[in-house]
This record gives sequence, structure tokens and C-alpha cells, in this order.
Amino acid sequence: NHLAHALRAASVGQEGATFSTNALNGAVTTYGELWSQAEAMAGALVGLGVQTGDRVAVQIEKSINGLACYLGTLLAGAIHLPLNTGYPAAEVSYFLNDAAPRVFICDPAKLDTLTSVATEAGVTHVLTLDADGAGTLTDAADDATPLAQAVARGADDLAAFLYTSGTTGRSKGAMLTHGNLASNADTLRDHWQFTADDVLIHALPVFHTHGLFVAINVTLLAGGAIILHRNFDAAAILKDFSRATALMGVPTFYTRLLDQPGLTTEACAGMRLFVSGSAPMLLDTHLKWRDRTGHTVLERYGMTETCMNTSNPYDGERKPGTVGLPLPGVSLRLAGADGAPTPPGEPGGIEVKGPNLFKGYWQMPEKTAQDMRPDGWFITGDIGQIDADGYVTIVGRSKDLIISGGYNIYPKEIEALIDDIDGVTESAAFGLPDADFGESVAVAVVLDRGAEVTADTIKDAIAPQLARYKHPRAVHIVDALPRNTMGKVQKNQLRQTFTPEA
Ligand code: ATP
Ligand code: MG
Repeated sequence: NHLAHALRAASVGQEGATFSTNALNGAVTTYGELWSQAEAMAGALVGLGVQTGDRVAVQIEKSINGLACYLGTLLAGAIHLPLNTGYPAAEVSYFLNDAAPRVFICDPAKLDTLTSVATEAGVTHVLTLDADGAGTLTDAADDATPLAQAVARGADDLAAFLYTSGTTGRSKGAMLTHGNLASNADTLRDHWQFTADDVLIHALPVFHTHGLFVAINVTLLAGGAIILHRNFDAAAILKDFSRATALMGVPTFYTRLLDQPGLTTEACAGMRLFVSGSAPMLLDTHLKWRDRTGHTVLERYGMTETCMNTSNPYDGERKPGTVGLPLPGVSLRLAGADGAPTPPGEPGGIEVKGPNLFKGYWQMPEKTAQDMRPDGWFITGDIGQIDADGYVTIVGRSKDLIISGGYNIYPKEIEALIDDIDGVTESAAFGLPDADFGESVAVAVVLDRGAEVTADTIKDAIAPQLARYKHPRAVHIVDALPRNTMGKVQKNQLRQTFTPEA
């Protein structure tokens, strides 16, 4: 069992190491206890008839037993399938029908609603697990014969179906293997120098790659400790800096921490690493963070389908605004839609290749074929630029590229200029249908509190710096940009909101 063995070998060896101190109810678990619980969960799943390759879907809050359930699913040779806890019944129904899991585990409060949904989708067993780790799954694990011998699974066998964040459309199920996850976690542990002395503050959801396969797998593979936070609470996290060494977060974590007056160099004295990803971090946030804490945030780039692709270096220059260099073992290139290489310095479609690449989208062979070149390069759908030192900058997604009068306009170029204006917090550029040019540029802008900036000031400020075809036709001042759970700006939603009625 490729992944589980690697995780267990690394973590159980850490004698007495605390796996997790739950910030909410104070429960503390050792690695020994965690793996015993995982074996008990695996025993329970096998007892329910779960077989190699079956999906075990979960829609549960973050808890120690929830993590034992993930590891137990691996030990049982099954496929872990976590669902966003924010999905209402209709969404859950879609995903259960799509993935056809044998077992579904949900919060006891939702059992009544979701039992029929799951049964209709062909699920044979519905179990519960609550935020404190209690439920019928835990009961079954208590009664089960622990699975002492993990079901054999190789690097090429499936470990998880992980649904993408749904930023650009309906979430797609990415099929990830034991080898994908183990190799990426191994690379990141070394690259970010994680050891058994590390204590990670974990406040991310565990149903996306960032919180699950980056944060959890990397720390387990180093035998370090994890402090679980159920939600992001800036004050509580700041307090934990005194007993932790590392934080992994989305950019909004950092902007919200910057609002805490207690965020100082002294408060961060014991911390060695701040990682950011999932969405672009504003230059302003990078600089403020450095000023206040003396630390440079390490930004990295990845996606559900590929795990992590690039990272700024641990030692060496971390360039704000870039996502760093390709990780060891990962190849990255820029190409046009036709696969032709992009001339040096120019923006192009990011394609990647390596042991981190997923097996394909679940039940979407056409989509998989569309995004995968015959020679194995995966088309990420992100557009990037590579500087003379090899550092990659993400300039937008292909789906968000604005094409006006036949010219490509990369949102980031416009956003960077607007963000630079005094009184502007952040901005998002997007395309709207235009009768003459196909598309025209529109922007949504969030202002600093109390700032007196108008749409006209913004237009005037950037006009001299941009070619005419890139000038925004419409500037909308908004209270906040629409974001999903991972802090990703949903440009679909902006396009919908601001498309004039026909
Ligand atoms: P969907 O594919 O369903 O539309 P999604 O692409 O947002 O959703 P994820 O796989 O969770 O789903 O996110 C991966 C994407 O997040 C990347 O393709 C990239 O666009 C973005 N991303 C990740 N890290 C960074 C970063 N550091 N800077 C900019 N963008 C990032
Ligand atoms: Mg995507």
C-alpha cells in the first residue's frame, strides 16, 4: 500500500510525537493512536463489504477521526472521496451519482436528508461522523477487527478522487494515484525542509488538495505535529504562532492576519515558514507581511489534477508575484493552443509533466483527452510567463483570457496597474461581450475603507500605461470580489453580474 506505508513509516517512527492537538476541544492524539484508529476504520469498512477500488465518499467536518477515516480508506485499498461540507443535498446528489461510492459518511445532522439521496445514488451504506469524531463510523470501528495487514496497492493504483474547486465551471473528479500523492508529498517535504520538529497550523478545509494532500501528507511524511483548526480564526491562529513552526494558507489568511494588531516580528519569532497558494497573493500583501513579520511568504502553484507544480525556493530568492520554479521532477513549459512553444518571455499556456500528473478525469474521457497532449504533457488551463531566472508568474486562466478585436489581453496586467493606485485594495479584470470587438474589458474594484476613488480616477490613472484596446470600458466599484472557499475569485460570476441585459 504505497501511500499509506510511506505515511506510516515516516510518522509512526516518531516516538510519542503528537499528531494533532485539536484547537477546539483540546484532544491530543499520538501517531500510534492515529494509526490504530485508522486500522480500526479500515476493519469497519472491509466489514461493510468495501473492496479494492471502491469509493468511500465523505462530507464531514475536520476531526482527528476524519483523518483516521482517510488513512483507513487507504489501508482498505479503497478510494478516498471528500466532498465540500458546504454542498447542499442537490450538489451531494450530483457527486454521489457521478462517483458511485459504496459507502457515504456524513454529519449526523444531515443524515435524514442525505440517506435517501445516497440510497438513490446506489450507495449501500450511509454512516455518520460528527465534528468531535463521534458517529456510527466510530462505533463500527470500535466493534471491528482492526485491519492489521493493509490491502496491497501499488504506485499506479488509485488513492483518491478529488473534485476540482469549480472555479470555472462544474467540478471535475480528478483520479489521483498512490504514486501521485506520495511523490508530490515527498518532494514538498524535502523542498520546504519539513522535519519531525515541525508543528503545522492547519486551518484549511480537508476536501481540497491544499489542505489534504499538501498540508496533511507533507507533515505526516515528515513525522511532524499538526494543530487542527476547524475554521480560520485569525486571533486563534496568531496565538498558536508561539507553539508552531509553519502555516499553510490561502492569500485571504494572510490579509486577515495582517488586520490583527498583535501580528509582529516577535509574535512570529518561532515560525520558520509561511506558505501561500490556491490563488494569487497580492504584491501588497507580500510586502506588508515582510514588513510586519520579517518573513517572506513562500508562494507555490498547483492544482487538483497535478498536485503542486512550482514553488519559490526555501533557500534562495522568493520573488513576490511569482509562483517560483518547477519543483524537482516536474517539467513545465509554455505553449499555444496548438502546442507550439511560446517565444521566451511571452505569456503562454502552462503545460506540465511528471510523476505528479493525475490519471484523468473520472468518466470524462473526452475532457481528459482534450487536456492531455499525446506525449504526456497536461494542459493546465493557466497562462504563465517565465522570467530570465526561470521563475513562473501566473497571468490568468485561459478561460479568463480577454480577446478584444483579435488581441489577447491578460487580466493580470490590468489588475496590477489598478492595484497600484492609492486607495485600491484589489481588482479583477474580465471580458464582457462587445458587438464590435467580440469582447471588451471590464473591471471590478475593491477600495480601501474610506478611500475616495471613483471609476473615472481609475480609468484616468491607468490609461497612459495601457494600449487603447486594453482600456476598461466599464469600471465597477464593489464591496468585495466573489470568492469560493479557497479564496479564488470567480470571474464567471463577475461576467454574469455585469453583462448588460440584452
Ligand atoms: P475548476 O478547475 O473546477 O474550475 P480550480 O481550477 O480553481 O477549479 P483547483 O484545482 O482547486 O480548482 O485550483 C487550481 C487552480 O488554482 C490553478 O489552476 C490556478 O489557476 C490556481 N492557483 C493555484 N495556486 C495559485 C497561485 N499561487 N497563484 C495563482 N493561481 C493559483
Ligand atoms: Mg482547474
